[in-house]
Amino acid sequence: MQKQKILVVGAGFAGAVIARELADNGNYEIDIIDSRNHIAGNCYDPYDTGKKLRIHQYGPHIFHTNDQSIVDYLSRFTKWIPYQHKVEALVDGIGYVPLPINITTINRLYNKNFTQEQQMREFLDKVKTKHKKVDNARTASENIFGQELVELFFARYTKKMWDLDLEQLPASIVARLPIRYDNSTGYFNDKFQAMPQQGYIQLFENLLNHPDIHISLNTHFDKAMETQYNHVFNSMAIDEFYDYEFGKLPYRSIKYQHENQEKIGQKVPTVNFTDISAITRFTDWRLYPGCGTDKSDILLTYEQPCSYEDNNNERYYPVKTVDNVPQKIYKQYETLSLKNKKMTFIGRCGQYRYLDMHQVIANSRMLSKQYFCS
Ligand SMILES: Cc1cc2nc3c(=O)[nH]c(=O)nc-3n(C[C@H](O)[C@H](O)[C@H](O)COP(=O)(O)OP(=O)(O)OC[C@H]3O[C@@H](n4cnc5c(N)ncnc54)[C@H](O)[C@@H]3O)c2cc1C
Repeated sequence: MQKQKILVVGAGFAGAVIARELADNGNYEIDIIDSRNHIAGNCYDPYDTGKKLRIHQYGPHIFHTNDQSIVDYLSRFTKWIPYQHKVEALVDGIGYVPLPINITTINRLYNKNFTQEQQMREFLDKVKTKHKKVDNARTASENIFGQELVELFFARYTKKMWDLDLEQLPASIVARLPIRYDNSTGYFNDKFQAMPQQGYIQLFENLLNHPDIHISLNTHFDKAMETQYNHVFNSMAIDEFYDYEFGKLPYRSIKYQHENQEKIGQKVPTVNFTDISAITRFTDWRLYPGCGTDKSDILLTYEQPCSYEDNNNERYYPVKTVDNVPQKIYKQYETLSLKNKKMTFIGRCGQYRYLDMHQVIANSRMLSKQYFCS
């Protein structure tokens, strides 16, 4: 039987997992293209032998999930280094404090000596607001943390990150904000948290290593390609594919600035800035397991959010607002795309959703199963 010809656009997790699932099925011949000169999408993490550092070129990626089936799936392609991510915030006049907010954060900011969860809960009960109408990220977060903590940790950061005020963002984003009522400092709640032992590039090399998968880099999708394949799985930006017919979908992007340092005081790999400067955070690569060691150079990467048009069309974060304008534009593209039975949009930019790696992988596995049954 002749194998079906499949085109996958994008060699990030969305495309690479679909390609592998189809290849393992045995009935497909897959061409995977990427406009960049490398595989691994935004997880690309080349090792710099001079600096003795692995640097995630598109920002730090920490793998975390509660879904054991995704861990089992990826463990075919990589070994892991267990790692609990830690973040601190730099507060003017106080120094580094733990983030998510925990008992130490409150003690340092308010000069308290709390030791018990109950004391922290009582304190927050006093400072938090009691907005009855919770219809945006400002009211939702103030009802958890109170106005002062929200201003310090979230309002300025949000303005820099999204160029939007908390009032313009949906309340649902607050669900992503963790809080600790003890002294624990882990950033994520998920059961499995780790870094790939030899980095993401090697994970992707193994994932794509199959005789029925053919990779072409430096290759931009062209509509003429569609006719040569039985089906296309496409992780390009859906609005770009439709020539912006219903308008441009907004995305935030990030510019990275690298700086060598002789010495640095903080003990965690990520520091968030709470001030009004344009920088949101820095990464100290030495402190990520699998990225550096105490023999590595100290290289800090500072992040400055911007619109994607100001950063070479690098689309990182889909923007969702409380007025639903971007969401409505996306719906129009999605409706149009569902009429084309020969193409499936995948991944963050194809589906215009912020997805962590484990969610993209689960989604791509589900879509390939659906395709087998279609
Ligand atoms: C700064 C940042 C930090 C993150 N940190 C984490 C984290 O810690 N943990 C976590 O779980 N997730 C994290 N994520 C999310 C993670 O990056 C995504 O879940 C994942 O990369 C999505 O995979 P994707 O394949 O959809 O997109 P991508 O990885 O972006 O891959 C898409 C690929 O398609 C290619 N492409 C696009 N258009 C075309 C075209 N027209 N022709 C050819 N090729 C094209 C692109 O070049 C790209 O390589 C982070 C994301 C960002 C932006």
